[in-house]
Amino acid sequence: MTMSGLCRPAREACRDVCRRCLELFPCLADPGKRASLGLKVALVLLHMVFLAAFFLFDRVLIEKTRKEPWYTATYLVLFAATLIQYFVTSFSSPGYVIDAMRAWNESNAAAWETSRTSKQSASSKSQSLCPSMNSNLIGRNARGINSNAWVKFVMDACPPGSSSRIWTCTYCNIVQPPRSKHCHDCDKCVLQFDHHCVWLGTCIGQKNHCRFWWYILEETTLCMWTLILYITLLKLTPSKPWWKETIVILLLFVLSIAFIFLILLFIFHSYLALTNQTTYELVRRRRIQYLRGIPERVYPFSKGICTNIYNLCCARSNIYDIESFPSAEELEAKAKPYTCMDMISCRCC
Ligand SMILES: [Zn+2]
Ligand SMILES: [Zn+2]
Repeated sequence: MTMSGLCRPAREACRDVCRRCLELFPCLADPGKRASLGLKVALVLLHMVFLAAFFLFDRVLIEKTRKEPWYTATYLVLFAATLIQYFVTSFSSPGYVIDAMRAWNESNAAAWETSRTSKQSASSKSQSLCPSMNSNLIGRNARGINSNAWVKFVMDACPPGSSSRIWTCTYCNIVQPPRSKHCHDCDKCVLQFDHHCVWLGTCIGQKNHCRFWWYILEETTLCMWTLILYITLLKLTPSKPWWKETIVILLLFVLSIAFIFLILLFIFHSYLALTNQTTYELVRRRRIQYLRGIPERVYPFSKGICTNIYNLCCARSNIYDIESFPSAEELEAKAKPYTCMDMISCRCC
């Protein structure tokens, strides 16, 4: 029998397994989802390797576990909590504009229309913030949604004088509220778009930025604790075979790089949370039209440190917050330099 003849049954068996896998999990047919799943498996395996190395090499830790089981138990709880937080964040919605549009339409459209009509009749001659809208856009992207009311609602939150055309996503054909962006990986517009996280396989936006922050915090703490355990392992057990020592030093090197990256990421996202900014707004500030001309040190969407933290951490998953662009007076007030009185009165809070 030839080599190709021997390989053929193996190839057919392989194809059969792949076909059955695709039948069981149709999402695996998408290369993007396959890559995302591969990264998730790699991340879990990486965590397992670091954990397994302790129980294989670290006799000091095993001895300590016998004497003080709470120490290892706390570490294992943090380990499990980090992985759970990773998957919870990964499978959570970042807050898609289309979902916000549906939710808004179901709950608020009628109430908003009534209040708007009454406001307009009260100030009959006053100029509206809402500019003239492109009639072609209204109703075209309905998908069962009252897009006319949505366009009016969104345009009221946009800077005065802007046209609905520039706020319309050319891919989804929907009017985006301020701070939204179309994600080409998710193929959807995301509210308060931060970035598309390759490791999590999802976008980070209004609805999962808080979960993402907690995940980085947990991962950083776990990484730091593991780093301490590895350094202790190297210090307290000096008479190890050379290959064990090489593995521990290699793992320690990988951990150190991961820790530096995680701590910087944590500091960066904490800064974003305190100032109510997104990564996209910070990096592309000069390219984003509505942020042009605003001084660098002015954070237009910041409502004070305490409110920013509250909004980030206590955002309810079923309520979408459409942030209005601040008025010229509000921007002027934010741009004022800090005085001693501002410090005493905690203006930044
Ligand atoms: Zn879009
Ligand atoms: Zn995305």
